[in-house]
Amino acid sequence: MQKRITITVILAIFSIAIMNLSCSRETRMSALVVTGQNNHHWQRSSVALKQILEKSGIFTVDMSISPATGQDMSGFIVDFSPYDVVVLDYTGDDWPEETRNNFVNYVQNGGGVVVYHAANNAFPDWPEYNEIIGLGGWGGRNENAGPYVYIQDGEVVEDNSPGRGGSHGRPHEFVVEAFNPSHPVLEGLPERWMHTEDELYSELRGPAKNMEVLAYAYADEKFGGTGRNEPLLMTITYGNGRVFHTVLGHAGIGDRFFPAMESAGFVVTAQRGAEWAATGKVTQAVPASFPTETQSLRWEFYEDIYSDITPVVERMKKYETGKSNDSFNIFRKLIAENLDDRNKMDEYHNIIRDLLKSRNSTLECKRILLTEFSWIADDSYLDIYKKLKNNRRLSDEAQYALELIGK
Ligand code: ZN
Repeated sequence: MQKRITITVILAIFSIAIMNLSCSRETRMSALVVTGQNNHHWQRSSVALKQILEKSGIFTVDMSISPATGQDMSGFIVDFSPYDVVVLDYTGDDWPEETRNNFVNYVQNGGGVVVYHAANNAFPDWPEYNEIIGLGGWGGRNENAGPYVYIQDGEVVEDNSPGRGGSHGRPHEFVVEAFNPSHPVLEGLPERWMHTEDELYSELRGPAKNMEVLAYAYADEKFGGTGRNEPLLMTITYGNGRVFHTVLGHAGIGDRFFPAMESAGFVVTAQRGAEWAATGKVTQAVPASFPTETQSLRWEFYEDIYSDITPVVERMKKYETGKSNDSFNIFRKLIAENLDDRNKMDEYHNIIRDLLKSRNSTLECKRILLTEFSWIADDSYLDIYKKLKNNRRLSDEAQYALELIGK
């Protein structure tokens, strides 16, 4: 009897603990994503940002979606004051004066802001906005916007030479390097990590007042870059407000697959930057999996991509050496998770066989499928493998695959 009572008490304590856990959901901070116009795929980027913030476990997220480009903006009145952090995913028509004033007052009074990618293209003629974002690009920006800012010999350089504000070379993978590794946003993360294929924003210019560079990357001329170390992650203070600015995370209009927003490095720094902007501290643990200096990494908690495998297949089909091999990693993960699901495995076998047969898939794609995916193959692959064995450039790999199925 004594024992049973003890167990009951333990269970009661346990359920109170669980209740407390579920109550803590109520105390999550609130974030607002502002979007609706952008020269990027804002319909997807804003949903990705919402997912990123929610999966941090510390934010609830609302969306504020503006009228479309060229429509009447007078009704787009946004009250920022209830939010701990405002995430800007907007570049387009001017906000009404009331919304502009609300925003400046919100930051002035201690509100947090995350400036995401092309949000730094917005509002070139709004001085307060440019002070809040620190640096901007495009929109006719030039030396009147403020200096170029970059890193040279370990120092932040402000360069007032005349010229355009904003450029980038061809998208590619690049190494992000910490400039201030002890800042709460970066503390505990590797000091150098490979970012997934993205635009490397360069030649940004702006007031850069009360701005601190957290991380940068070398914009290699071989990809059409400036040959400078360009700032990528920044913080700005404006009044009592804190701003985290990330230029990473391009989401193209035509793309169905966004490697840049799916980069674990982009996601984790955005989550930590949002928390820092909201509170001045970062309580989120450093994740166990993070890109290394030589290998980019897809954030493992994205959901939407799994509902549609088509873009993954398209990426595999076009794979060339030196490009991100994320699509194969996703496909490998899907296979591993669904080995017992007959229908899904049939679908994946069809995909592999079609890619191996297709004239439109690259040699490199076929090479990877032969060497890394033939362990799931069976006799239904036999004719395809035999045919590829006659291809001089794939015969070794095809022979290897044939041996794996015992032929
Ligand atoms: Zn972009």
